[in-house]
Amino acid sequence: MVIEKHYSACALNCPDLCAFVVHVEDGRIIRLEGDSNHPYTLGRCCPKGYAHVLRMYSTDRILYPLRKQIDGSFKRISWNEACHEIAEKITSAKKKYGAQSIAIYSGSGNDGMAPRYASRFANTLGCRMIPGIAEICFEGAYEGARFNVGPFPPHELSDWANSRCIVIWGTNKHESSIHTKRIIQQAIDNGAKLIVIDPRRTPYARMANIYTTIRPGTDGALALGIASEIVTRDLYNREYVKKYVIGFDAFRERVSQYDKKRVSELTWVSEEIIEKIAKTFATHGPALISTGPAGMNHYTNGTWAARAVHSLLAICGYLGVSGGGFQYLSSDNSPFNGNAVSLDDHLPNDIRPIAPSGTYLPEYILSHTDNPIKIFVIQAANPITQWPNSDKTKEAFDKIPFKVCIDLELTDTARLCDIVLPATFIFEHDNLVHSELHRIVQFAPKIVQPQGEARNELEIWGDIAQRIGLGEYFALTERDAIKLALNSKDCEGITIERLKQHPEGLRTRSAGIPFADFRFKTTTGKIELYSKELESFGLDPVPFHEEPAESPMATPNLYKEYPLIMITGRLGTRLHSQYTAVEVGATVKSFSYCTSCQKCVNECPDEAIQLVRPTSKQIQQDVKDSKDGMARLRHELGSLIDGLAVELSDEQLNIPLEMTALLVPQWDAIKCIGCRECQIDVCPYDVVTDPIRMPSRGDSTRKCAFLRMHWKTALDLGLEDEDRVSIESLRGRVDNIYLELTADIDPRVVWSSDGWWEDSGNINNLTDDEHTAFGYTPGFNSVLVRVRPYVE
Ligand code: SF4
Ligand code: SF4
Ligand code: SF4
Repeated sequence: MVIEKHYSACALNCPDLCAFVVHVEDGRIIRLEGDSNHPYTLGRCCPKGYAHVLRMYSTDRILYPLRKQIDGSFKRISWNEACHEIAEKITSAKKKYGAQSIAIYSGSGNDGMAPRYASRFANTLGCRMIPGIAEICFEGAYEGARFNVGPFPPHELSDWANSRCIVIWGTNKHESSIHTKRIIQQAIDNGAKLIVIDPRRTPYARMANIYTTIRPGTDGALALGIASEIVTRDLYNREYVKKYVIGFDAFRERVSQYDKKRVSELTWVSEEIIEKIAKTFATHGPALISTGPAGMNHYTNGTWAARAVHSLLAICGYLGVSGGGFQYLSSDNSPFNGNAVSLDDHLPNDIRPIAPSGTYLPEYILSHTDNPIKIFVIQAANPITQWPNSDKTKEAFDKIPFKVCIDLELTDTARLCDIVLPATFIFEHDNLVHSELHRIVQFAPKIVQPQGEARNELEIWGDIAQRIGLGEYFALTERDAIKLALNSKDCEGITIERLKQHPEGLRTRSAGIPFADFRFKTTTGKIELYSKELESFGLDPVPFHEEPAESPMATPNLYKEYPLIMITGRLGTRLHSQYTAVEVGATVKSFSYCTSCQKCVNECPDEAIQLVRPTSKQIQQDVKDSKDGMARLRHELGSLIDGLAVELSDEQLNIPLEMTALLVPQWDAIKCIGCRECQIDVCPYDVVTDPIRMPSRGDSTRKCAFLRMHWKTALDLGLEDEDRVSIESLRGRVDNIYLELTADIDPRVVWSSDGWWEDSGNINNLTDDEHTAFGYTPGFNSVLVRVRPYVE
């Protein structure tokens, strides 16, 4: 059978946006690898990317429209039945209660074009889609920085290499944006200093010139403390400040209140480190600050923290220059003509979404005695696990009479819906994607037929629209929509045809270095450390620190009862509530075939394999499996050198490392990215098991949510590694969580990742639905918890 090669791109709302080469045999995808022609990702993906093929054919996928039965089970129905019922319900709700009684929400689960189709439906129906993708993710901190400089795109990744000081502030790029590593390393090789600020000792922290922990939620205070040192020591850039900054005197006055002694008490950062960061940052520029959505943004004070942190770049003259900048996400930087697809201007401007973001919806619903939302259609989103305060979300969901979910799997949210519609996956529809990090646009065409009766989102919305008299707005194909989106200034010259010729993608025309002309997009055209806009809202016009809603200082009595600060973040193997079942890490099928040729060691792109001394267990197993060859040699020599290794033990034998022929490969599951090179392309002897696995959700062996804790804290609580624990906050409790002990986290802080489903320990049962001052971002990290042994 002929194997065809196709090109595609990731649509997981990840900034790296890898390009793929997809191998198809007889209409079925048999392999995925990174496209080495992509200028940034260079053919390497993360485990999620490699797991796409497994997810595509997973038995967890919904293949047909489903209707919920009285007993809670789901029954297959036809598309005709499903769309007919949805259309009838929408028509009747609109007539009786108005279009605003219908809530339409899209998450980022299928990024690119799909959210725009949902928006097109909402706008033509008359209700506006409820926002959420930017808001829940990064908007709070973005708004804070925006008060300083106006709307801005992130600095293009390639320019990071020109930085002389990189500050990684509250983000673990090792997990959340793996391709930044190569560029950061380039900068370091060119002499850049690396400063890492994080309560977790991340892999970047281990490489850093300066590393410090920080009390979660005090980023703004630390920034003002560093600024105070810079100003006091006269290390700021006077000329730049004079030319481009408004409000420096007020800022100087403000930072004088944040001397290093006070800031050290507030932040847990030592005075010495505050001084050191200030000196390095100010004298070893240009410097950039890289932060992430799950860091300072996810505190209730995220807007104010980001504004203060961003101010450091302003006073040192690092905005608008190569090697500088605030490396963050932006909601003002889509290169596409979004409106042409979503038809935002179909409705008058004064028609607003009923809630500023999805995470406000539970409060909106519960605060009305008669819930105004009669229908909720949710696309590629899992609010039950992704919105804060899950109990409140569930309570609000209960009050909505009719709910529909469009998704790939029967998620916790889908299970609460009346009708569930099966969506197509990345390789089953046409899509257009873009990364702010590298500004490359890619076309991801339909490669194979959909599984079962799955349909793409445009078809789904189009079918419903047709039945309610809005068919004229959906008389277009996905490729028509993509052409509309490409009709923009930034995408001039980029067409589907050219993208097909360049599957690695094409660079848009947007500038790589924001504000290179030093014309900032504020009302004054300067960087505003004194913001008249904020003043006009009755808010403090100068950067300041505010405590998070829950913290040892803001709520000291609560802290006595809940004495640990819990933060949540991203994992390389997961994205929000997607891929929670991916397991990475090669293991050995049988050492008996291993010739110790070291090919796997040499070829592994991530140094995830090394040859180590065998254990007696391994060599005994070898002999059982094979009567001759390498296994026997290893056994006999091993016995000679180490004495008869008859006892089965996991202790490595005392064989000299120079005797490489006796060594066996060992895989490091943390470093392994699951690319399968060692299994498919490298090892000639079928020694290795599949390094990337995705058991179905029904598989009882899958892991539950974890909590990482410092071993000293565990000792105080009488807990041990791998214990099962319960975590409690003021909002609720999650049980049966897997405890991972480490020395790489501040003992006063515990860390987990978001997105675990209800049956695995949904961490958002603990978080609060307080939001940032601007940007409508939930303060996921502003949460105090206590941890106890789990009792069944
Ligand atoms: S999720 Fe993984 S495969 Fe997808 S773009 Fe990000 S790094 Fe690449
Ligand atoms: S161990 Fe194998 S699967 Fe893992 S990164 Fe190395 S080559 Fe890829
Ligand atoms: S696992 Fe395969 S590639 Fe690696 S050393 Fe053994 S035989 Fe060679």
